[in-house]
Amino acid sequence: MGVGLSPQDLIDVVAAGVDVFDCVAPTRNARHGSLYCGQFVETPDDWVAFVPDEERGRLLIKKQQYRHDHGPLSAGCDCYTCEHHTRSYMHFLFKTNAPLYFPLACIHNVRMMQRACEAMQKMIKKATNATFF
Ligand SMILES: [Zn+2]
Repeated sequence: MGVGLSPQDLIDVVAAGVDVFDCVAPTRNARHGSLYCGQFVETPDDWVAFVPDEERGRLLIKKQQYRHDHGPLSAGCDCYTCEHHTRSYMHFLFKTNAPLYFPLACIHNVRMMQRACEAMQKMIKKATNATFF
């Protein structure tokens, strides 16, 4: 419980054998303007790592540096928010307290957690030739 402060948290606990967990952090972080930003990469030991694109793997959307940033929240993210909106637009929604900000931000952070799980699932399948996923 409470292992979602970063996508790397999930990766670490699954590597340690934990397979049931939950956490409010992805949506709480999103609501407070902290959005996951990074890439999932395969490691030499056939596992997964979350490589942050921004400091600590999160961008704080309230920062002025995103006011004119027309990139997605996280490069390579396939969530609805990243495919349809920019950091600049999300910055605007956050700064103006627009209700639309909250679902869009939560969609992104939850999708990043799903992508962490998908990356781990791929490596587990590869290691075990499992067909039950
Ligand atoms: Zn996204």
